[in-house]
Amino acid sequence: MAEQGSPVDWHAIDPAGAFERLDSSDLGLSQAEAAMRLQRHGANALPQAPPEPAWRRFARQFRNTLIYVLIASGVISLLMGHRVDAGVIFGVVMINALVGFVQEGKASAALQAILGMTRTRSLVWRDGQLRTVDSSELVPGDLVSLQAGDKVPADLRLVQLKDLACDESMLTGESVAVRKHLAATAADAPLAEQHGMAFMGTLVTAGVARGLVCRTAAQTEIGRISELTRQATLADTPLQQQLARFARQLSILTLIIAVLTILVGNLLRGLALDDMVQAAIGIAVAAIPEGLPAIVTIALAIGVQRMARQRALVRRLPSVEVLGSVDVICSDKTGTLTANAMTARQCVTAVQLHHIEGEGYSPQGRIEPAADGALLAAARVALLCNDASLSQENGQWQLHGDPTEGALLVLARKALPQFGQVLEQWPRVEELPFESERRYMATLHRCDSEPTALLAVKGAPDRLMTCCETQFGANGPEPLDLACWQAELKRLGAEGMRVLALAERRLPADVHAEHGLVEQGLCLLALIGINDPPRPEAIDSIARCHQAGIRVKMITGDNPLTAAAIGAEMGLNVERVLTGAELDRLDSQGLDEAASAVDIFARTSPANKLQLVEALQRQGRVVAMTGDGVNDAPALRQANIGIAMGGKGTDAAREAGDMVLTDDNFATIAHAVAEGRTVYDNVVKSILYILPTSLAEATVIIFAILLGWTLPITPAQILWINMVTTVTLALALAFEPPEPGVMARPPRPAGQSLISAELAWRTLLVSVWAAGLVFWQFGDYLRHGASVELARAVAVNTLVMIEAVYLINCRFLDASVLTPAIFRRAGPMLGAIAGVVVLQLLYSYLPWSQQLFGLESLSAADWLRLTAVALSIFVVVELEKALRRWQAARPSARQ
Ligand code: ATP
Repeated sequence: MAEQGSPVDWHAIDPAGAFERLDSSDLGLSQAEAAMRLQRHGANALPQAPPEPAWRRFARQFRNTLIYVLIASGVISLLMGHRVDAGVIFGVVMINALVGFVQEGKASAALQAILGMTRTRSLVWRDGQLRTVDSSELVPGDLVSLQAGDKVPADLRLVQLKDLACDESMLTGESVAVRKHLAATAADAPLAEQHGMAFMGTLVTAGVARGLVCRTAAQTEIGRISELTRQATLADTPLQQQLARFARQLSILTLIIAVLTILVGNLLRGLALDDMVQAAIGIAVAAIPEGLPAIVTIALAIGVQRMARQRALVRRLPSVEVLGSVDVICSDKTGTLTANAMTARQCVTAVQLHHIEGEGYSPQGRIEPAADGALLAAARVALLCNDASLSQENGQWQLHGDPTEGALLVLARKALPQFGQVLEQWPRVEELPFESERRYMATLHRCDSEPTALLAVKGAPDRLMTCCETQFGANGPEPLDLACWQAELKRLGAEGMRVLALAERRLPADVHAEHGLVEQGLCLLALIGINDPPRPEAIDSIARCHQAGIRVKMITGDNPLTAAAIGAEMGLNVERVLTGAELDRLDSQGLDEAASAVDIFARTSPANKLQLVEALQRQGRVVAMTGDGVNDAPALRQANIGIAMGGKGTDAAREAGDMVLTDDNFATIAHAVAEGRTVYDNVVKSILYILPTSLAEATVIIFAILLGWTLPITPAQILWINMVTTVTLALALAFEPPEPGVMARPPRPAGQSLISAELAWRTLLVSVWAAGLVFWQFGDYLRHGASVELARAVAVNTLVMIEAVYLINCRFLDASVLTPAIFRRAGPMLGAIAGVVVLQLLYSYLPWSQQLFGLESLSAADWLRLTAVALSIFVVVELEKALRRWQAARPSARQ
């Protein structure tokens, strides 16, 4: 066998030569041989780029305007001889970088792990049987099956193909798909002309093929070009960008205020420059919410992890936020809304109606009335024109392949006990694979003992009926009674059954399979009614979505009657059903109207999906769209959230999606939306929580300067509050579970500012209230003869207690917290408050801390008093919420 690495021009060798050199056959390798080769050649995985070195990731944490301001403050403090302040400021800068460093590491590891879960799998022949293996286990000599939508898993020498075309733009930059053929090409042919090859990482856009793995991992073309696969990058989300902008503006504002403080204090009021600079630094460190960026990253990362646990893998971090504002979900039907557990229940031939018994994919079950000639002919087509296979594992029947085909295969095996003989007698020589645009699949078979070839066709009945001229009656072919078939189709559809038609055509033995041969002269054999029950959890989820103000639309390739019947069972609006053909006839205004008014679209093409997304987006909707096929990629990319199916979806769809559902289940989408809303809420809660502390501190200092007081809180103390207590408390908000009403309110309008006018007003109220209390406490202690150290210790602890109490208010944004629900999953909140109390006790009593921060011990009475003072914030905020709820409920407010 040719060794990997020796430069073999595989494209210049013909298929037979490739089999020989790779020591393989059309049965594929044996499992044992494959295992040996895997040892020799190693896994088929491209080498990973080394992760960013730790020091660089750490250094990157300092690239932030807020940090620059802090560093400048530290340097100035140092120059002016305030070594303690400078030390604390530098300490904070380091802690901040460390927190960012650790969090970013965790978030990127989580995302990397999630991408790992979406690894590709390949269909490969081993020991003459088709198996699914992880693409990393492919070895040279493996015989791989490809079909439209697949990502090519290694460099392959193609050995068999039908209409194969690949998008090789990632290798060649050429966006037009390349048609493939088997012939050998010149040894020096450029990559784009090596038509006998399929290259790793490229996408199959049409057709089917088999290819021999000839190069794996780093030896492949893509491996040689790039050597390295890209690491998952953590792109900033719109929210994070918005926050960064906010931070820059805040820094500038802070600098202006700080400079003004120095000028006003020193020049106008004649205060000592040294004191003024210290005050200015105090303002700078106070106004900057140091802990905010870390909290936002943590909230997003927690959201991603929670969704992954619920089987929704988010591939791009910004999607978490967008999910929260989705207001239309366009879902396909089969497998997402329905269980995709298909069982053929009825078989209508030109002779009679047969009922089929038996459960699941077990090929046992009676057919009533027993199979006659017409049914046997239909069963033969169902068997031959089929790529699925069944196996029995631990007594359970397992399906490999497409469930629709599985149902037909089971039917065929119930009707044809000697199915093995039929397969042997009629080997498949060519095929026209299923394409959602054509909605049928055909295979061509030749039998040694028969003079004619058999074209076996299965597909959507409305499509196939137009291609049929005859039907198979009791005495063989007879003229087609179209009206009768249509009535049967209608009946089966109205029962919510998925209906497939089976047809055949006899052809001269030497023909080749072509679409022209399928599209006329067929003999209709049967209509098969397949039962695909709705997923019960999807019915509940649709109801939840409706409650949450989200429209759910079904966009299916199935026929309108089945779509309407299933839609009605699912609780969708089925007043109007539009088909793809009807959509195509609408002008753009009509399309916009239909896109918003109609909820069931049937017999749609991938192009229709794209049109519908665009129409909905024109009306300002935020659209989530599911997709699984090769041609769904444009619609998935266009949608605000493209949702790819991890199970039945193609690699092409998975690459285009923002989110991948590992269970293909609609209910998972609804969970993800709730989670997206929760993440957004938690970020808003964190901001709402952190800002008033910063604002209150800055206000206290500015007022102290204006009144000519000593600072009630020193810069070092402020940094303690901002970095240690605020972050500890705010962290609890990042872990908040969804609020009880999270799916009972309408979606957040896209582009809405982070903090609404109402919340800004509350922030101001809390800031002023907290600043007032701290100021009053400080002044009152001084007035009663306390030392500055004691008064400051009281001021700091008052502010921290206010924060701890305010955390409880923040658990619910608008709703009252005076309900039993506040005790639900309150662990993080209680833990954070307990943690902060312990930290504050250490801060207040440890001798070195007292020295570092300039503090004096508090008495029990001091603690009681400051706790009572802090509790007032709870009352103020709950009153404000109640007032707002009352205002919103007034009849005049609703008009
Ligand atoms: P959804 O879009 O909700 O997943 P779907 O599976 O019906 O529904 P398509 O995959 O586009 O959508 O299939 C369209 C139609 O083509 C089906 O309704 C069925 O009649 C027919 N069809 C589906 N799979 C096959 C197949 N393997 N061979 C032949 N015909 C098929």
